[in-house]
Amino acid sequence: MSSRYQGWAVICTITSHSAPCGRGLASTCLPRALRGQTVSFWKSRGDLDAPNLFTYSIPAPFLTPENAPRFHVPRQAWSFAIGMRPQSRGIVTLAGRNPSDPPRIDAGYLRNPQDLEDILKGLATCREIARSAALRPFTKGDSIPGEGSRSELERYVRDGLVTFWHQSGTARMGRDDASVVDGRLKVHGVDGLRIADASILPRVTTGNTMAPCVVIGEQAAMFLREEREG
Ligand SMILES: Cc1cc2nc3c(=O)[nH]c(=O)nc-3n(C[C@H](O)[C@H](O)[C@H](O)COP(=O)(O)OP(=O)(O)OC[C@H]3O[C@@H](n4cnc5c(N)ncnc54)[C@H](O)[C@@H]3O)c2cc1C
Repeated sequence: MSSRYQGWAVICTITSHSAPCGRGLASTCLPRALRGQTVSFWKSRGDLDAPNLFTYSIPAPFLTPENAPRFHVPRQAWSFAIGMRPQSRGIVTLAGRNPSDPPRIDAGYLRNPQDLEDILKGLATCREIARSAALRPFTKGDSIPGEGSRSELERYVRDGLVTFWHQSGTARMGRDDASVVDGRLKVHGVDGLRIADASILPRVTTGNTMAPCVVIGEQAAMFLREEREG
């Protein structure tokens, strides 16, 4: 089965100090919002047919272990996480003949140079939002990573990427030789076998993958019922 077409969404964050939430200062304190309560989808380039960036808020500092020691991480902070549908492709390969051998997983982060450019644009836009007049009453001090040279920001991105846990596409739907299932989830060339999970997505989604997987499951149930009932 093909394992070549992997999509991996990635996250990078910008963290901003928030005003202290002490007694008498409640009016200047950023409201406690649930993770992901505010989200936005947008394009890093005008020629894209759909958004490739997905930003959501986190009411806490959010830095990777690699980035955190290089910055003063405030106790009170909020972050923007930038989820991205990348151009880079990873690969999953078999490590042995035994089905229980753990596969080799190469995420291929930033393999396509366009991804670095897109995420840097994402960081710049999030910094702009963090500095906007609407958020000023809730913000104190600078954001992380702050200004910085191109190489410093690049280092922040390279050290700040984490998985979005949206691995998909190892058995993608399509008509070409490398695709695995057809439009009714049937495995090409194998009778009586369907696949109904994130692996059939032709490309990773920009937003979260759980809801698309529910739709895939519902479609699979509908196809089975249709065939059973004629
Ligand atoms: C840490 C984490 C956080 C996430 N957060 C979010 C989120 O907030 N929002 C969101 O939309 N998405 C989120 N996702 C992504 C989302 O959960 C997945 O994309 C989605 O669950 C994939 O669905 P699936 O059906 O392809 O696979 P799964 O949900 O992994 O289902 C596979 C099922 O197959 C079972 N299974 C495996 N092997 C066998 C076997 N040999 N025999 C029988 N059963 C077997 C497993 O136990 C499992 O129940 C997150 C993922 C992770 C890992």
